Amino acid sequence: MKKATQYIHAGAHPDPSTGAIMTPIYQTSTYVQEAPGVNKGFEYARSQNPTRQALEEALAVIEEGKFGLAFGSGVAATDAVMKLLKPGDEVIAASDMYGGTYRLFSKIYSKFGIVFHYVDMGAVDNIETKINANTKLIWAETPTNPLMNIADIRGIAAVAQQHKILLCVDNTFASPALQNPLSLGADIVMHSATKYLGGHSDVIQGALVMNDQALRDELYFIQKSCGAVPGPMDCFLVLRGIKTLGIRMERHCQNGAAIAHFLKAHPAVKKVYWPGFEDHPGHAIAKSQMKDFGGMISFELKLDTMEAARALLSGTRLFSLAESLGGVESLINHPASMTHASIPREERIKNGLGDTLIRLSVGIEDAEDLIADLDHAIQLAITS
Ligand SMILES: *Cc1c(COP(=O)(O)O)cnc(C)c1O
Repeated sequence: MKKATQYIHAGAHPDPSTGAIMTPIYQTSTYVQEAPGVNKGFEYARSQNPTRQALEEALAVIEEGKFGLAFGSGVAATDAVMKLLKPGDEVIAASDMYGGTYRLFSKIYSKFGIVFHYVDMGAVDNIETKINANTKLIWAETPTNPLMNIADIRGIAAVAQQHKILLCVDNTFASPALQNPLSLGADIVMHSATKYLGGHSDVIQGALVMNDQALRDELYFIQKSCGAVPGPMDCFLVLRGIKTLGIRMERHCQNGAAIAHFLKAHPAVKKVYWPGFEDHPGHAIAKSQMKDFGGMISFELKLDTMEAARALLSGTRLFSLAESLGGVESLINHPASMTHASIPREERIKNGLGDTLIRLSVGIEDAEDLIADLDHAIQLAITS
């Protein structure tokens, strides 16, 4: 089955009791058993729920994997992967990843004796030099949030396999429509389904997809033992979101490209971070592992002051000032004070994330309207 068909049909089986074409929201906590231990495969809704099961099947199909697991949030999905580890184990993670992942690793898991090495994953060598006998997991994110750096998934997977280390890739920014890390050699794909998978800014959810049965069993055991499961209504919303993922991503990519080129040509703009540019250091790798370059763009004005950044951030009308990304509506964000505020300033600056960087999540509105909105706000910023 081709991708466009999978988005519509993956996990969708007419409801056996009524024929309902959409999987019902099975809003139940438990299931009546015929006799002790005799049931229809459903015992208690933390362990199994038919709406969640339909979603997990869809997630596996669209991410080119065998098994999907849904969680109450993206960080809950990340948390489940971390629970595969034990004290003394070491993790190599990206130095410029999502702020909430950094917070979970540095503030929670380091307390439990897990050791983290943060490296620039733009070069595979940086990973290799940190590997030792205790290394159990490589945590990659590509493109990164918010600097749009690219990691070579095939190259990292080769190193991980050689040393028998698990590779988990946070695929939130690309979505399964643009990049499929399992097919490039990763062991686990993680998603914040809150973003492109849900696509409508109306749900918090996370997902893991994998191919290995034993790994799936272990992660399922963690899912049901630790209990960070999503409710059936939220599973329904993400299932519905997936149906339009293909066409939404096409428009996100078209609009993203139009806005990236507009910004690059703008005399008031200093730098645009978008992997679709040929002079982006990760462009060749992005082209080899992604189908298109997505709708996430960061940029800096030549006028490098907080006043200008603030005027720009509050000067847009269509781009709403908000955290999050991947919804149909365009958002504008100030990583230093919003999404990445949990990263210490020195650390943030060292990794290239400056105080005045602006991040856009380009929605699926009309590109001309979006460009006019940005043009107007940039004008306000440079004359403020
Ligand atoms: C939002 C996000 C997360 C965390 O997901 P939640 O659903 O907010 O818990 C993780 N990684 C990336 C890249 C994200 O953008």
